[in-house]
Amino acid sequence: MDDDKRKILVSRSVNVEYEGILAQAGLSADTTLRIEVDPESLYPDPQAVALLWLASTYTFHGLDLFEDFRDDFEQRTGDRLQEIVDNWPLIFRGDFEHVSKKLFAAQKPVVNRPPFSTCPRCGRPLWAREGVTPLDEIKQALKVDPHPWWCPVCGQRFAYDHATENGVDIWSIRCTAKFSARETLRDLDSMVAFDQPALQLDATRNGGSDGQSK
Ligand SMILES: [Zn+2]
Repeated sequence: MDDDKRKILVSRSVNVEYEGILAQAGLSADTTLRIEVDPESLYPDPQAVALLWLASTYTFHGLDLFEDFRDDFEQRTGDRLQEIVDNWPLIFRGDFEHVSKKLFAAQKPVVNRPPFSTCPRCGRPLWAREGVTPLDEIKQALKVDPHPWWCPVCGQRFAYDHATENGVDIWSIRCTAKFSARETLRDLDSMVAFDQPALQLDATRNGGSDGQSK
């Protein structure tokens, strides 16, 4: 039960070129691949997401081919990584040894420091977009997911430093950015500029800060 609760659905739509009746009628089919993964898992869930990401870069010629692939791919993907790659060498452009280098790529530091870090492989923001995401949403994202272990788009695993303080695990994400005072000030400016109304609201309410436990 608990395992299921933690799971998230990851989906990618893929390019399918198709002809015949469907195309003539201007109809479009569902060309999305979906897998359920556990964001806390370090294996095989991020590897399954990486495989999904690789598959989504391939253009399928014909809906039949896509549907055959989807039926195979979506079945216990993480347990069948090698079998799936072996079944579809054209789609993954190589054998399992070649593909596994991408699936099991080393954990990498993220680009830019939190909360504006992005995935070093696909560029997806981990928590927030600088100058776009309001401050309260950034705080919420950090609270809900303080330690994303890997990217839900491409499966890239992130590097962390680990320490223990008074028996509590402290995980610090590694990033490529060097923090300068100038950048810090700029980031704070951009956050405040977007969040002024919310800040004022909080000040007038003067309420019990983090009342909610979730
Ligand atoms: Zn990514």
